[in-house]
Amino acid sequence: MKRNKHNYFSALLFILFASSVQSQNVTEVYCGKLLNTATGSWTKNALIKVDQASGKIRELGTYAKVSKALKKSSLDLSDQYCLPALIDMHTHLSEDVSGDLIEFYSISQEEQLKIGRENARITLMAGFTTVRDVGVYIAWTDKKLRDEIEEKKTPGPRMKVAGYYLTIPGGGGEVAVPGYKGDVPDHIRMGVARGADAFRERAKQAIEGGADHIKLIASGAVLAYGSLPGSPEMTPEEISAVVEEAKKTGTRVTAHAHGALSIKQAILSGVDSIEHASLIDDEGIELAKKNHVSLTMDVYNGDYINEMGLTDGMPEEFLQKNRETTEIQRLNFKKAHEAGVKIVFGTDAGVYPHGQNAKQFSYMTKYGMTNLEAIQAATVRAAEVLGMDQEIGRVKEGFFADIIAVSNNPLTDIRSLEDIQYVIKEGYLYKDRNKQ
Ligand SMILES: [Zn+2]
Repeated sequence: MKRNKHNYFSALLFILFASSVQSQNVTEVYCGKLLNTATGSWTKNALIKVDQASGKIRELGTYAKVSKALKKSSLDLSDQYCLPALIDMHTHLSEDVSGDLIEFYSISQEEQLKIGRENARITLMAGFTTVRDVGVYIAWTDKKLRDEIEEKKTPGPRMKVAGYYLTIPGGGGEVAVPGYKGDVPDHIRMGVARGADAFRERAKQAIEGGADHIKLIASGAVLAYGSLPGSPEMTPEEISAVVEEAKKTGTRVTAHAHGALSIKQAILSGVDSIEHASLIDDEGIELAKKNHVSLTMDVYNGDYINEMGLTDGMPEEFLQKNRETTEIQRLNFKKAHEAGVKIVFGTDAGVYPHGQNAKQFSYMTKYGMTNLEAIQAATVRAAEVLGMDQEIGRVKEGFFADIIAVSNNPLTDIRSLEDIQYVIKEGYLYKDRNKQ
């Protein structure tokens, strides 16, 4: 009885929560200015027509004047700057910045999912309608969240998920708290392995289980005990085995790698992209360019961790590793960008509060990108790396009607992206500055 009551209450909460986000369908959008993210040019008075059944853009044209008597499903953004909605290539939507690693030993998947739902909503409201989620400690929480969003039960960005981390025992992707002697649930050890064959098997299970991509931990991590960011963790043989398995189904592999050696080993083992790339050297930059490997460099969150860590009592070990990777990563970002390596927008949301993703844009422009390049990193370039460049990242006929609007020109004021006025995903208006 008690259990039934609990289930009833959860269901009620879910309904209340799901309905707390108002979405309204939109068939026409009148944009005062519309950015072409491929060229950087603006179209004045753009009229976007949406096919409601598919959520895609049916027709793109211009208008002379916005009628005073618009249909209920028409949206007047004639005083706004419109652009395609944003893509964050490195998030952990189901996880939060608060709390300690030790909590993952006892938290249930349902509790984790509840946190994820709220983060998904916040991220959508910040203008991000697609995320590549790159790992969860509680295996498959990301997939459950992805599916709820796809079924429109939960408002959130379209998610691409990894299912779990592939990592060595005690590596950057395992919850390993020194001195902990309690139970370790299986669902936090799904991707922990040693040896090429074992890793191949874990990769196979991830793909069969519904992962969209594979995330492997090639080097140590900042926010994990005893794991050194600069030191290799998985061997080249192990990484190659994972890549080989993933290639059978055309699944992309991305490698967490801070250290120069791990970055090179991962690229030579055939991964598609590198996460963090903090300590990349000239040789690594050359290899990335030659092999068309993209980098996701999370150049904002170091400042947040540094500030919050001091006030919140984060372990000194984490803080020191953060200090050692923050500034150098930014300088290497500049170097890699100047060398012509493809860099996509990815923030590691989850290590700082979700919804603040756009704060990273001004760091990217400070370290060498133009405003347009930073926007492209979060639209056209990110879409290419996801293999979705005919669906998202541009406002174009046949693409998803994923559109955001801001009050100031982001090509001259990049921080206007931190204050999104309207968010449309697949033809539904989720954020309207006049209503929230
Ligand atoms: Zn991460």
